[in-house]
Amino acid sequence: MKRIEVKTRGSSELVDITMEVKEVVKSAGVDSGICVIFTTHTTSGIIINENESGLKRDIVAILNELAPKGKGYLHDRIDNNAHSHLRAVLLGTSVTIPIDRGELVLGTWQSIFFVECDGPRRREFCVSVVEG
Ligand code: ZN
Repeated sequence: MKRIEVKTRGSSELVDITMEVKEVVKSAGVDSGICVIFTTHTTSGIIINENESGLKRDIVAILNELAPKGKGYLHDRIDNNAHSHLRAVLLGTSVTIPIDRGELVLGTWQSIFFVECDGPRRREFCVSVVEG
């Protein structure tokens, strides 16, 4: 397992981590198996989708729409970031990608993203490579 640090710049932001994950898989030297990418935070998510600037803004916009800030959430009584937790719930904390012939089985338009929902912050995610 490898921990990788990511520094986010915006309050909500998609960071493409495909290259970092590919490097971990390459150095693992596994021919066939799976790769799990996991975020250790409660206000961020991991997703796979297309790295297109308009779509990235659309994803941030739909998260804003689905879980707008300050809607009287109960968690806001604690630290005022319930919307960030709720957006993370919608995204999920991990993705699993098959490995074949030593490479991630990603479609042409698929990229892996760390999604910041409560930035900017110093974050980390984990990459595990399992042979099988
Ligand atoms: Zn909180």
